[in-house]
Amino acid sequence: MRSDPHVEPTQLLLPLPGLAEPTRDVRIPRADRVFVNRNLAMAGIEWVGFDMDYTLAIYHQRAMDMLSIELSLTRLLAKGYPEYLRQVHYDTRFPIRGLLIDKRFGHVLKMDRYKSVFRGYHGLKSLPPELLERLYHDRKIRPTTPRYHFIDTLFAMCEVTLYSVAVDALERSGDSVDYGKLFEDIRESIDEAHRDGSVYTAITRDLPKYLDRDPGLAKTLHKLRSAGKKLFVLTNSPLSYTQAVMSYLLDGASAEYPSWRHFFDVVVVSAEKPRWFREGRPLKRLSAAKEARNGQAERCQIYEGGSLHQFERLVRAIGPRVLYVGDHIYGDILRSKKESSWRTAMIIQELDQEVAALESCLGEMARQRDLAVTRDQLEDELRFYQARFKELSKERAPDDDVRRVKRALERVRSELRALDQEHTRLSQIIDVSFHPYWGSLLKEHHEMSSFGLQVDTYADLYARRVSSFGAYSAHQHFRSPHDLMPHEL
Ligand SMILES: [Mg+2]
Repeated sequence: MRSDPHVEPTQLLLPLPGLAEPTRDVRIPRADRVFVNRNLAMAGIEWVGFDMDYTLAIYHQRAMDMLSIELSLTRLLAKGYPEYLRQVHYDTRFPIRGLLIDKRFGHVLKMDRYKSVFRGYHGLKSLPPELLERLYHDRKIRPTTPRYHFIDTLFAMCEVTLYSVAVDALERSGDSVDYGKLFEDIRESIDEAHRDGSVYTAITRDLPKYLDRDPGLAKTLHKLRSAGKKLFVLTNSPLSYTQAVMSYLLDGASAEYPSWRHFFDVVVVSAEKPRWFREGRPLKRLSAAKEARNGQAERCQIYEGGSLHQFERLVRAIGPRVLYVGDHIYGDILRSKKESSWRTAMIIQELDQEVAALESCLGEMARQRDLAVTRDQLEDELRFYQARFKELSKERAPDDDVRRVKRALERVRSELRALDQEHTRLSQIIDVSFHPYWGSLLKEHHEMSSFGLQVDTYADLYARRVSSFGAYSAHQHFRSPHDLMPHEL
């Protein structure tokens, strides 16, 4: 059919109205997004590496904590602790990451980004603000000294539960407690259970009980591979455990991949991070491998140990072209950031709860911001009337004028009191939505928490799961929100 030369070809109108606009909200739900602290262009990334435990492998935290507590209790009782510790209730909801144990007083503390403490527990009892102020504000906390212990992994959460419940139970029974020794005994018991293989054995015996098999994981790895990225695993776990876990997570998950090993080019087990990023030890090839061609590592090769330096030579990867995804702020994220120029992404599985709480409290948070504006205005008024009152007193002004200013002062003060009460009430609602004991993981009041600051400083990206990357292009340019300094607001 011939087209009429006076009629514009319909193709030029494309995209047709209605078809061009998305008909639904196309934004990725907040909980599934990858959050950006520092800009990162995926197009420039050649190698993507993953830690295994709590990164590729997401554990059911409660089941893991109960297992560790059970295995550690047997060892703790063998050290002479009373039998009734078996009978008490261990509330695994108690701890969060980023807590600080004060071994001198048996307290558990949460710090903000300036290492100030506004929240703490002794056993399971909340510590009063005056005590926190006296102990931790008058003198600066030094978290790296032997008096303190920082809880930075999900594996260590059970240490806090065991410690606080044991302090509580022992003191209730009138037993004296050596807070420092108790904590060291607990750590030793848990370490023993890991070292002698009890934890690994129990998990591999019932993988579905402890591991969350994420259906999006295989698709995400495939997407990265299809875009030409090379993938590696770098884990501290030994080979047999790595094989059991990875095989549960990925074998049979995708028709194109005969086994979990086919997703990866290189796997490094028993890596001994964070040491691996510095001196490391000799790199040993474990898998029955063909000789490397052109000095390049063969696909699906498994190694043990080694170091950052040897690894980079092996895979010929240049620092900023490597993105390393891990969950451990110190062993994975901070160390790799300090010792190499690798880019970093942190998996924070608690973001599920953190984001759900945030979304449920948006109204309360908006109201708190309004209150902050009103407070500023009221404080300006207060200053004005106070100055006026002084002037009138000096001038020996008529009583009526002084009374009027006095009444205004009383009104402003009473409004400020009511405002503070409402602010406190809202804070309580918000805190409990995040966590029954500690409030938000990443924030403390309106500051970042000490843990949040570490995430902000060392993780270029963060997300709840590795599969969160699956919603984005493998060439995505991740851009951070602009940070405004107070003078720019
Ligand atoms: Mg890990």
